[in-house]
Amino acid sequence: MPRTLITGGAGFLGSHLCDYHLAKGHEVICMDNLITGSLDNIAHIKSDRFRFVQQNVTEFIALEGELDYILHFASPASPIDYLELPIQTLKVGSLGTHNALGLAKKKNARFLLASTSEVYGDPLVHPQKEDYWGNVNPIGPRGVYDEAKRFAEAMTMAYHRYHGVETRIVRIFNTYGPRMRIRDGRAIPNFLSQAITGQDITVYGDGSQTRSFCYVSDLVEGIHRLLMSDYSDPVNIGNPQEMTVREMAEKILQATGSTSKIISAPLPADDPKIRQPDIGLATEKLGWKPEVELDRGLASTLDYFKAKLLSQ
Ligand code: UDP
Repeated sequence: MPRTLITGGAGFLGSHLCDYHLAKGHEVICMDNLITGSLDNIAHIKSDRFRFVQQNVTEFIALEGELDYILHFASPASPIDYLELPIQTLKVGSLGTHNALGLAKKKNARFLLASTSEVYGDPLVHPQKEDYWGNVNPIGPRGVYDEAKRFAEAMTMAYHRYHGVETRIVRIFNTYGPRMRIRDGRAIPNFLSQAITGQDITVYGDGSQTRSFCYVSDLVEGIHRLLMSDYSDPVNIGNPQEMTVREMAEKILQATGSTSKIISAPLPADDPKIRQPDIGLATEKLGWKPEVELDRGLASTLDYFKAKLLSQ
């Protein structure tokens, strides 16, 4: 039975990865300090192959026994989180990644880093391919996340090249689905909660900036395929269906049947103007492409948000 550590395992993506790998027969150790993760996300897991460890991965990680895989997902991941937790964001991407890689080396485990489309910054190349080096403002408010993840990629490649650790790097584009927090701050959770509760929908700037949104089950499948592959350079995983933020707000109004108004709010500093993954590499190397249509993904996310908001 493979034994797998998932850091950030009580977060949005981490908890879906726990479910996925338990279903694949793994023993799963979920590690989280719960600053942005929540025990609610893993409360449904009853398996005796599952264990939760409350720990900040920026502290030395001591784990008994063997490990086959480490999926390093611990990090604040919403712009409002990294504004509130700038030092923690930098520390988990740098010191946390170093600790998780050190553990992978010691246990001879395969390591997968959750990287991000933010490594491309406000991109000057469109769509973004893995060989684009990016356009990042290191000292802007998003720099704490972008640079931590860029450092994490560099550290991962150094452990791969210098220590021979088996490593994988996934560059995750905007993802949505159940278990995003109501007050997560990102576009889809904001718009859904606002639409459901009849508040104004806050579109930042003129809403012409674009994103490409991937449903969580597609993302998790892509990550698993990458983990099982023998490819150690970064791979984009995301849904190339690009739309403006205003179009997404309108889509959510339609899906919820809400009468909320769309209002304009200030555009955050360094907000990328365009973003779309080129997934040619994922398709070639992993035989992967997303399958969940936006309408279906939004419907199941909406069900989750409605139930969550009703229970509050
Ligand atoms: N956004 C918005 N209203 C919100 C939240 C976000 O218009 O209430 C915009 C944000 O400015 C960005 C896009 O939606 O252009 C996606 O933002 P998000 O925070 O989801 O993730 P990002 O891709 O910027 O990391």
